[in-house]
Amino acid sequence: MRDGTPRTRAELIQLTGLARSTVGTRVDALLAAGLLAPSGEAASTGGRPPARFAFNPRARVVLGADIGATHSLVALTDLNGTVIAERAEQLDITLGPRLVLDSLVRTGKALLKSAGRTRQDLAGVGIGLPGPVEHSTGKPAAPPIMPGWDGYDVPAHVSAGLGAPVLVDNDVNIMALGEHAAVYPHVEHLVFVKVATGIGAGIISSGRLHRGAKGAAGDLGHVAAPHGGDALCTCGNLGCLEAIASGPAIVKALRTQGIEASDSRGLVDLVRAGDVTAAHAVRQAGRDIGEVLATCVSMLNPEVIVVGGILAQSAESLLAGVREVVYGRSLPLATGELQIVAARTGDHAGVLGAATMVIQHVLSAEQIEVQLASMAG
Ligand SMILES: [Zn+2]
Repeated sequence: MRDGTPRTRAELIQLTGLARSTVGTRVDALLAAGLLAPSGEAASTGGRPPARFAFNPRARVVLGADIGATHSLVALTDLNGTVIAERAEQLDITLGPRLVLDSLVRTGKALLKSAGRTRQDLAGVGIGLPGPVEHSTGKPAAPPIMPGWDGYDVPAHVSAGLGAPVLVDNDVNIMALGEHAAVYPHVEHLVFVKVATGIGAGIISSGRLHRGAKGAAGDLGHVAAPHGGDALCTCGNLGCLEAIASGPAIVKALRTQGIEASDSRGLVDLVRAGDVTAAHAVRQAGRDIGEVLATCVSMLNPEVIVVGGILAQSAESLLAGVREVVYGRSLPLATGELQIVAARTGDHAGVLGAATMVIQHVLSAEQIEVQLASMAG
């Protein structure tokens, strides 16, 4: 019923091949839970017209939080991921998990109140953090820019404050989920690349986020770049992609040519203002990223590569470099219908993805089963 199309009991029996009594019991339970709602009547074939039911996205609400290094965006959404209310705040991640998560809990309560909803309406909380996260436990794993967060039990802290299940993932994975849900819901294979202070990727495979064994899949930034040379990376290795093609790496390289950009934002502004040297440097970064992505195309055969993060806003320079190498290096079968495009959800990719992560969880067959069983009990 998630597609929103109203259906009758007879249509559900036909679609599922289940027994009349099974469908009847199930529809009644979902109606009682509020997840289905009556939605008019179908045309009568004689006698009383059969009732139609549709998925009710307003049955519960979800909080999605995108916590960055210096700011956070928190959104309250319905079960379709439509934003009901949101709040952006300045927030320094180096203050540590207790202060940052207490602030998130306060914001969550305020958003619930502003929408006239209670904690009982809250189905779950999704959080994106700017560092590696062990997905099964929701604990950050040695995150470089988050002192004090290593191994911290983020789900326990937030769940104690808001009384709902909490799921945590890294920022790039939730951006991939958000862009996929909002713009490419019918695309089965998609790679989302974030190019900003760091470089990372979120992989959608067969319509689902592919996290790998521990949640580390897609960590493109520390792949050895073919032209990485001996550039020193923040991870301690030499020649990582991030060490030559991230925002700070390009800013540093331009400085040696006498061109001053304050940071990634400043670099984007230079390119947009028509600085040829800056545009050339960003295009070269696009080629370097393309070299690594060409390997990903061979491994994963995506239909769409989405380039996001602040550097994707530098006119077409970054995308042009990526396209040049990926289309040139991959085989025609893989690139024939491959689109390489800029992200469209912008600042909202993270919160939409965090909400999507929770919605996929709470509306999974297993979780619906748990919910209906607890109501029946
Ligand atoms: Zn590295």
